[in-house]
Amino acid sequence: MDFNLSEEHKMIRDAARDFAQTELLSGVIERDETQHFPKELVKKMGDLGFLGVMVDPKYGGSGMDAISYVLIMEELSKIDASASVIVSVNNSLVCYGLEAFGTEEQKQKYLTKLATGEFVGAFCLSEPEAGSDATSQKTTAIDKGDHYLINGTKNWITNGGRADVYLVIAQTDKDKGSHGINAFIIEKGMDGFHVGPKENKLGIRGSDTHTLQFNDVKVPKENRIGDDGSGFRFAMKTLSGGRIGIAAQALGIASGAYELALKYSKERKAFGTEICNHQAIAFKLADMYTEIEAARHLVMKAAWDKDQGNNYDVSSAMAKLYASKVAMEHTVEAVQIHGGNGFVKDYHVERLMRDAKITQIYEGTSEIQKIVISRSLIKQ
Ligand SMILES: Cc1cc2nc3c(=O)[nH]c(=O)nc-3n(C[C@H](O)[C@H](O)[C@H](O)COP(=O)(O)OP(=O)(O)OC[C@H]3O[C@@H](n4cnc5c(N)ncnc54)[C@H](O)[C@@H]3O)c2cc1C
Repeated sequence: MDFNLSEEHKMIRDAARDFAQTELLSGVIERDETQHFPKELVKKMGDLGFLGVMVDPKYGGSGMDAISYVLIMEELSKIDASASVIVSVNNSLVCYGLEAFGTEEQKQKYLTKLATGEFVGAFCLSEPEAGSDATSQKTTAIDKGDHYLINGTKNWITNGGRADVYLVIAQTDKDKGSHGINAFIIEKGMDGFHVGPKENKLGIRGSDTHTLQFNDVKVPKENRIGDDGSGFRFAMKTLSGGRIGIAAQALGIASGAYELALKYSKERKAFGTEICNHQAIAFKLADMYTEIEAARHLVMKAAWDKDQGNNYDVSSAMAKLYASKVAMEHTVEAVQIHGGNGFVKDYHVERLMRDAKITQIYEGTSEIQKIVISRSLIKQ
């Protein structure tokens, strides 16, 4: 067992750290306030290979492993979780979904552009009445011979307004339940496809979240992903990998807040000494560092499982469950360590605290992760 990063992994981490410091940090407060993430920054992330990290180079990807992916996710998330969610959705849900389940034609047509950042992708599973209970899909995809007709509403879709390609889950045969669900590739601009207004959110405010409406959208048969009825399995497998990315996002938010809190505690004086010399503060730092390291080990283990070809359904659920809890709890502590300064935007920790919350909700809430983990334990 080797806990050291390879030289290559260190270089990838340093490149992501450098990008986050030089390109993401300066405008992060403004992006949070304006709820806008500039196209140019997305393009820069694409140019660095961050949008197709694990995709085979023959499809335009960087051909890196899952360990590299979580290192990139952690570094970007320390500074801007709105940037890292674009990276996460594009990599784990859209590129992975197409590379693992798509046809060669679909990969040539869409994956090659998504992996380079020429296109941005969105993953559309959630609906007003189907969140945690994803089998209750109300969006329908009726088989019309050479095409499907899609009708319904998807909500909370990340990259919803800016994506070029949308992977949409819909019910084809209600009688078959989860075996009657399919996944489709829908392009921006297809007739009957409408993007609703942007959500005004608590956190990851730079990220673009929308409701989408499909009214008789005609989708060619060749845009179905996988065999007829395989859409639910596609969604669950894809989300399982997605949880590694969100776990790494949570880890980055937590470690970013910790680094700021440590620095501040060594500078700020109260009662004649730096506040880190007060045991109440020092013990907070000790707890933060210990639990962040524990989260890091779970995140790395899940990524390692993926790289080894092991089943990662449970390790990714554990990593997300724990890292998101650590992110939520320790960003609150980071605000506390900053005192009044923690409550204002300039010190960044209040944003990290707001951003942390989403990691306990999307790609399966913490309660859903516990269902995944406990079911597997009981089945053993
Ligand atoms: C900012 C943001 C971005 C998102 N991006 C996307 C995206 O890109 N694509 C996409 O498809 N979705 C996306 N989502 C949706 C997200 O995945 C769902 O919000 C999430 O899965 C929870 O579903 P829900 O909101 O319907 O909550 P519900 O399912 O209604 O859950 C409400 C509460 O009940 C709990 N609960 C539900 N069932 C159980 C149970 N069986 N046992 C115990 N507790 C239970 C939940 O844990 C939660 O606490 C996004 C959401 C947000 C807020």
